Amino acid sequence: MSEISGPSFGVSTMSLTPHNLRDIEGLVKELAAFSEISQIMPVRGVTGSEHFPPGLRWYKEKAWNPVDGFFQAAFHRDGDGMLPANLKDYVLFPNPDICREVFARLPGRMIAHDFESVGCDRLVEIGPKINMSLEKIAKVCQKRNIELVLDTEHLVENVATNPFGRSVDEIIDKIPIISPFVKVVHVKGTGGNHRRILRKFLTSSHRSDVDYMAEYRPELILDFQLTIKKASSFVYEMKRIVLAT
Ligand SMILES: [Zn+2]
Repeated sequence: MSEISGPSFGVSTMSLTPHNLRDIEGLVKELAAFSEISQIMPVRGVTGSEHFPPGLRWYKEKAWNPVDGFFQAAFHRDGDGMLPANLKDYVLFPNPDICREVFARLPGRMIAHDFESVGCDRLVEIGPKINMSLEKIAKVCQKRNIELVLDTEHLVENVATNPFGRSVDEIIDKIPIISPFVKVVHVKGTGGNHRRILRKFLTSSHRSDVDYMAEYRPELILDFQLTIKKASSFVYEMKRIVLAT
């Protein structure tokens, strides 16, 4: 692989649901026209043996909370992630065994969600559930050579119990503590707090190799071309903010 210089941009295939479940190869072919990176999960319809365009760099995340059957989800029994399941867990993901098999075959660097289960890829997405201060997180990253995923939504969610700070403003002010360790930014939106977080990060990071991944909530648009158009304008707007800051 060639030396990476400058930031890279792309969009998570999960933001393009339901098209990631129907024709992942066709979807990714379109994405490659305006993305250098992408992200994938072992959703239904994905086998891990697909042929993806060369030149795209991948990240992968495990299934959220897969279930063995419809009723497990319908009655909110615990799924594989030990969380009460919902229909989304059933609709999006095959059973836990298949998820594990497909995940192992998927390309890319794995994103973990806590410091205990971080694998050899040493990449952790942080959110309030980690229950550590940003100072503590920075120390762990330094010591264990771990890189971070900063998500513009998770960073400031559940402010009442958020371990990163007592208010959204305080948390945003503290971003420089973790900036040196951030390799990927999950960009959930391009306005409001999302933009503030992005700007604060950009003015405090000295890294040139950061990956900016659009990870907005899927709007379940059935029209394929419209879905691609929306993804490409989101990536364009994200790029504009990053390159102008
Ligand atoms: Zn994320």
